[in-house]
Amino acid sequence: MSVGVAILGSTGSIGCSTLQVLARQRERFRVAALTAHSNADLLEQQAAEWRPSYVGLVNSGKSEAGRGKGAECLVEAATRADVAIVVNGIVGAAGLEATLAALRAGKRVALANKEALVMAGELVTRAAREGGGEIVPVDSEHSAVLQCITGRRPTELERLILTASGGPFRTWTPERVAGATVEEALRHPTWRMGKKITVDSATLVNKALEVIEAHFLFALPYPAVEVVVHPQSVVHAFVEFVDGSVLAQVGFPTMELPILYALTHPERVPDAGARRFDPVAAGSLTFEPVRPDLYPAYGLGRAAAAAGGTAPAAFNAANEVAVELFLEGRIRFGRIAETIARVLDAHRPGDAGSLAAVLATDAEARRLAREAACS
Ligand code: NAD
Ligand code: MG
Repeated sequence: MSVGVAILGSTGSIGCSTLQVLARQRERFRVAALTAHSNADLLEQQAAEWRPSYVGLVNSGKSEAGRGKGAECLVEAATRADVAIVVNGIVGAAGLEATLAALRAGKRVALANKEALVMAGELVTRAAREGGGEIVPVDSEHSAVLQCITGRRPTELERLILTASGGPFRTWTPERVAGATVEEALRHPTWRMGKKITVDSATLVNKALEVIEAHFLFALPYPAVEVVVHPQSVVHAFVEFVDGSVLAQVGFPTMELPILYALTHPERVPDAGARRFDPVAAGSLTFEPVRPDLYPAYGLGRAAAAAGGTAPAAFNAANEVAVELFLEGRIRFGRIAETIARVLDAHRPGDAGSLAAVLATDAEARRLAREAACS
């Protein structure tokens, strides 16, 4: 019997890569549900090919048997009886409720949607514990860590070093970066991804989100989660154990491998389509410290992480708003970090143990960010 997979955000970069992976694993997995926000044409094409029992389009006028609309369709898709694994490839805070619902329903969540874990890490990990669900990371760095620690005891783990490409502005001056255009920010050196995460990679907000993600996934204190800039994106993470031994997971940049691993963990299955590693083709691998003057938003994210409580939710919401305004051409690149700083200055971190508190923080931070960005 094949395993039923729901793909939330099937029309996005992660969603499409997931279908590529599943096309090579048809005897193991079956697509049980697909959802998207507004790309109805691509969703229909995918539905025609994969024949899932449920299709949800958030921005849709119609609903009928096996068809959902509105934000509710995400939870419906994620909790269906014929779904065992939910691939959450939604971008941003919109992915939170479906993740919580899936974990409470005992599903495995193959999580690409890091924003939800950042804004509500306590709630998400609690939902998994209480509902018997399981969070398996799709993010390549966290997949790398999981692959290195699988089979080890948590007490043997000492420190993580996540790698960051450094984005398109790694060799620029801070002054030039502050005025970078949308086109320049979207020119990522090593990965092809959705627009929001591509901008997050240019500010290094993505890495701050990943530090918080790692803290919740692997139950490590923040000082034990370090970051190094590695422009080639070949080493995805280093894991140091208590005896000083360090393991790393390496490979050419592709999301297909971490997606497949999230579906099959702790097992590995043959994958004929994967591009095999070649150290000579990979060439020289280099590592540099993160330059705080070049990536001010990264430091803000780490500070929000250290403050804890609702601060990561405020950080995430401020960033989502600022990135949207930047992509619309309404603020300059440097304004993204300034907006986040203003929101965090005004935010008094509270307890993040309830969904109401997290959603209230998210809404207030969005309001403040809009005000701060455009004033
Ligand atoms: P994308 O913009 O390409 O796709 C986003 C998907 O989410 C789309 O299918 C869209 O329909 C859906 N969506 C957007 N807003 C929605 C809403 N309000 N309600 C329901 N669905 C909505 O983004 P992506 O690059 O695929 O990234 C998705 C997530 O995966 C992000 O959290 C990102 O940080 C993470 N991630 C992506 C990559 C990558 O290589 N693309 C790598 C690591 C992590
Ligand atoms: Mg990543």
